[in-house]
Amino acid sequence: MKVLVVDDSKIARISVIKNVVGVMPDVEVFEATNGLEAVELFAKERPSAVFLDLTMPVMNGYEALKRIMEIDKAAQVIIVSADIQSEAKLRVLAAGAKNMYPKPINHEIVKLVFEKDLLV
Ligand SMILES: [Mg+2]
Repeated sequence: MKVLVVDDSKIARISVIKNVVGVMPDVEVFEATNGLEAVELFAKERPSAVFLDLTMPVMNGYEALKRIMEIDKAAQVIIVSADIQSEAKLRVLAAGAKNMYPKPINHEIVKLVFEKDLLV
């Protein structure tokens, strides 16, 4: 199973990857450092799940989410963001994200994501 992890912070990517691999040891992980890279990698690799930051250079997570959903309306995108305002969550859910979690995520949250948010 392919998983795409998108964040401009390397530390944040490492944290998400560590927890994803901890829950799903057999995943093939792809990394992107901004929204544009994420959209390009999504189109190429068609990952089963995307963990997506919102605040990033070049292209932010809102625009990347919109473009990913245009590529595949069944795309499974989980937002992981420091922006915990409820309107941010409503906005990404309306745009097609499966759920949104505040940074930093941990093993229990990623376990919940794979059990409840994602069809894998
Ligand atoms: Mg960021």
